[in-house]
Amino acid sequence: MLRRSGLSLGQYFLRRKNRARFSWYLNKTKMSRPVQARRLEGVDKNIWVEIVKLAATYPNVNLGQGFPDFSPPDFVKEAFVKAVSGENIMLHQYTRAFGHPALVTNLACFFGKLLGQELDPMTNVLVTVGAYEALFCCFQALVDEGDEVIIIEPFFDCYEPMVKMAGGTPVFVQLRSKAAEAGKLMSSGDWQLDPAELASRFTKQTKAIVLNSPNNPLGKVFTREEMELIADLCMKHDVLCISDEVYEWMVYDGKEHIRIASLPGMWDRTITIGSAGKTFSTTGWKVGWTLGPDRLLKHLRTVHQNSVYHCPTAAQEAVAQAFQRELDNYGKQDSYFVQLAQELQQKRDWLVRSLVAVGMKPIVPEGTYFLMADISEFKSEVPDLPDSDEPYDSRFIKWMIINKGLVAIPVSAFYSTPHKRNFDHLIRFCFVKEEATLKAAEDILQQWSLEKTGQ
Ligand code: PMP
Repeated sequence: MLRRSGLSLGQYFLRRKNRARFSWYLNKTKMSRPVQARRLEGVDKNIWVEIVKLAATYPNVNLGQGFPDFSPPDFVKEAFVKAVSGENIMLHQYTRAFGHPALVTNLACFFGKLLGQELDPMTNVLVTVGAYEALFCCFQALVDEGDEVIIIEPFFDCYEPMVKMAGGTPVFVQLRSKAAEAGKLMSSGDWQLDPAELASRFTKQTKAIVLNSPNNPLGKVFTREEMELIADLCMKHDVLCISDEVYEWMVYDGKEHIRIASLPGMWDRTITIGSAGKTFSTTGWKVGWTLGPDRLLKHLRTVHQNSVYHCPTAAQEAVAQAFQRELDNYGKQDSYFVQLAQELQQKRDWLVRSLVAVGMKPIVPEGTYFLMADISEFKSEVPDLPDSDEPYDSRFIKWMIINKGLVAIPVSAFYSTPHKRNFDHLIRFCFVKEEATLKAAEDILQQWSLEKTGQ
């Protein structure tokens, strides 16, 4: 062996000695104490990671994650290009930590009108790294150990871990579905809160309720009466409202998006969250914001300044310019918000037709770019695994990706652990996709339908 390695006896022993020293060093430096902070217990699992990985492995048509596969409008892209290649070289440097002045000014002007409030750009607006950071700031700034936070199920899945990481306790209340009108598909509007059940969730420990209208994944647009019910309970129990309105411009069939902060008595206790990613089809830019009274926002600013501190300047400048254009075109046919909703409504109807053809039962959404579909008729496609604790919808999705090349998201991911199994007959599709993608999905579903009928 010595000859093969070409080492002299001296070199050989030196190397052995070093190796022994190294393994002693490794043993000594290896940590044996637990490294994970307690606040991460139970929040580490995430179905998205698994689905995204699977979708990257098999060829597919992806109607899973919520982002457009088409270009943002030209005026939005041009605004970004101008921001990075224009004369103002300061747009490459840090800007104001709580929001680029041009952006907070336009947001205050735009949303002030909609909320019926005079908004101070410096104190009533905070720019964040997407709506995600806005949510994180809310929970970290406002929720204490022992506080309860009411979450309406189904819910955007990060609310639960974020409440827990802040030390709070999520308390769930479900939207309950009633039967669809005879001969009609079910609508997201058929899913409603039971007023008595909702009222029963408010206790002395309740600090906040999270409202997400239009709702991801269901697409429900809460009515004025439903908002008033929530607002009355918030005021009665002195509770805050965290209102996630990222899909505010995606509302169909003449429905109206109501901003809960605009209801009497609610401005003072509501934080409204928005996202340029959803609003201008630029999810990768990660520009979001919160609007609210200074007495609430000042605490969010504390979290922001001690964590993220600052959002990319050029992206903020581009969003500011995009809002300037929407300010000029508000309510007119030239408004991107008007055009986007019209286009999305057609895409929604297309996907609904494609799903009905294969025997899935879509729940027609009044808003967002998602829809949930009932797959009860497909229970026999994937064999039951009695010992598995994985919800059926999750196993179905994995099977569908591998065997049909179509990606969706299991709806059980949007329910709390005790309720997952009750809703594992539903999956979520995203339709903010270009025509070629929706056509490819239609083809897959048609082929599937033929196979089912044995043709
Ligand atoms: N809230 C809801 C309801 C969402 O669906 C999303 C994105 N999927 C977000 C917040 C996060 O938005 P952003 O991409 O701006 O961080």
